Amino acid sequence: MSMKNSVFKLFSSCILVPGISRSLIIDDQRWKYYTIPNSMYALLKTYDGCSIQEVIRKEGTDPEALDILSDYFAFLFEQELIFECSRELTEHFVPVKKSFDHPATITNAIISIEKLVDLDMASILLQLTALGCYTLEIRINRPTERSTISQLLTLCKTYELENVSLIIQLDAAIKTLEEYKKDFPFLSRIVNYNQAFESREVTGIIYTSKDLSKSNSCGLVQADFFTPTLQHYAESVNHNSCLNRKIAIDTGGAIRNCPGMTESFGNIHDTTLEEAIARPGFKKYWNITKDQVTKCKDCEFRHICTDCRAYLDTPGDAFSAPLKCGYDPYNCIWEEWSTHPLKQAAINYYKIEV
Ligand code: SF4
Ligand code: SF4
Repeated sequence: MSMKNSVFKLFSSCILVPGISRSLIIDDQRWKYYTIPNSMYALLKTYDGCSIQEVIRKEGTDPEALDILSDYFAFLFEQELIFECSRELTEHFVPVKKSFDHPATITNAIISIEKLVDLDMASILLQLTALGCYTLEIRINRPTERSTISQLLTLCKTYELENVSLIIQLDAAIKTLEEYKKDFPFLSRIVNYNQAFESREVTGIIYTSKDLSKSNSCGLVQADFFTPTLQHYAESVNHNSCLNRKIAIDTGGAIRNCPGMTESFGNIHDTTLEEAIARPGFKKYWNITKDQVTKCKDCEFRHICTDCRAYLDTPGDAFSAPLKCGYDPYNCIWEEWSTHPLKQAAINYYKIEV
């Protein structure tokens, strides 16, 4: 299994996250994740940089333990999560920094609109880019025309946004994402809601039968939405993985932390985004991390999952778990959140139609 005088190392791009019942390896280079037993987590934490013979000497004292160790190493080598090198070389592998910063006041924004004329989009986009924002989601809460998409994308092209997604309801055929990207390379996603069918892959445009026109349609947590990257991990360890440096403007112009929050920090018609951000309380969710949240702090997925502070299991408790997550980290099972008996009171409180 191993070279003479060699030791094993976890690749620096692989990040370990312990959970209460099992753990996770995030492979940042492949954007993949692996759930692993907590005993494998302990092995990697304790023996990284040791030889396999040393591990066997200390842990493989009976045939059953030896079998398990052999399976663990076979898996870790097969998935290229660990590698072998000489002991002298190990000090040259500098650990990847897990800190997070970004040279921007705001990195991501959500604008909800009904009609384009309701908001001065050019002024909003100008303000957002001045704040450093590079990711924008535009939600159109009414059935829309194909020409509105082109108008919006043409407007976004004028500004330095790197990543724009559209949440729309359009009954006519849409071009493929690739066709749009020829003119608008910053377009990352179009979600077309209230459709008769579900489709994720065919054109790169997501069709869903769900009604996403309401502000409380957001906040769903499911494995499809996990982001197994170092950037997401680092932001999640240090800040809130949804609300850090986020700003939202609703259809009436109210400036909020996100579309699901009721608190307003002024109206875009008479308040600049910079003024709203400076108001007391605007940043209060930015540093609530998953390690502080009930249930999530025990969950192996906590640093690849996107948090939600707007809809909570216990409304009013800022450290309560996201309401729209059905994962149980104590038994490692996913359940339907919307029918869970313990969530009905909160579902009624937020008036969520499920
Ligand atoms: S806090 Fe929840 S509702 Fe608000 S943007 Fe994040 S996921 Fe959506
Ligand atoms: S329990 Fe918390 S961390 Fe785990 S998947 Fe659900 S919301 Fe994410």
